Amino acid sequence: MHIMPTAPFSAFLDALLPPLCLLCGARIPLRRQGDDVAFCPDCLSDLPVLQAAHCPDCLIETEHGERCGACLAHAPDFDYARALYRYEFPVNRLIHGLKYQARFAPARTWGRMLAVQTADFPADCVLPLPLHAERLAERGYNQALEIARHCACARGLPLERESLQKRRATPPQSSLSLKARQRNLKGAFSCQRDFSGRHLLLVDDVLTTGATANEAARVLKLHGAASVGIAVVARTPRH
Ligand SMILES: [Zn+2]
Ligand SMILES: [Zn+2]
Repeated sequence: MHIMPTAPFSAFLDALLPPLCLLCGARIPLRRQGDDVAFCPDCLSDLPVLQAAHCPDCLIETEHGERCGACLAHAPDFDYARALYRYEFPVNRLIHGLKYQARFAPARTWGRMLAVQTADFPADCVLPLPLHAERLAERGYNQALEIARHCACARGLPLERESLQKRRATPPQSSLSLKARQRNLKGAFSCQRDFSGRHLLLVDDVLTTGATANEAARVLKLHGAASVGIAVVARTPRH
């Protein structure tokens, strides 16, 4: 006879076989399981949090937390940005696993943490940064959506998974100059909805140059968005 595991049954299994920390393999204390199933408290507190002194617009490290030169010269199209971590070990390894090896365990933890971090942004809904259909077919999932769904759920907001679409596959932005990046992104996104007067929270795994998030925000604003916030797991440091 086959028995489908029910919720109480899986809770019972968790009690017998507590989840293990993704980083050190330690058993995660029971009281923590509701919050952060992916990491034990020690590993969670050792992760490289975003440096306190950063540009308020794009989150790049600055000496005293002042606005960076690039943002002073040209303010981003997004109005708000939050990141949990610096894109450094072991966060980079975990993101790589989430992106290319379907290791989803951290997505729930990070989505929920981003919900807490962005509580001061009055979002009406949450959108994942989309992947182009070809990349989606290759990979089978969009890692940004895996994080965004938990963020939306924890904030009690609707998840807009189809409204913003990536029309073209674009080469990695970090290998291009600023001019080439902007050219490369022209027409990369399309939007299917009128977002008039709405406040949108865009979720992605990593903020690298900011050019992609910026172009997505620009397109959402062309479709009426009153404001666009960016929430990412990690910000790459200055080169
Ligand atoms: Zn651990
Ligand atoms: Zn900046």
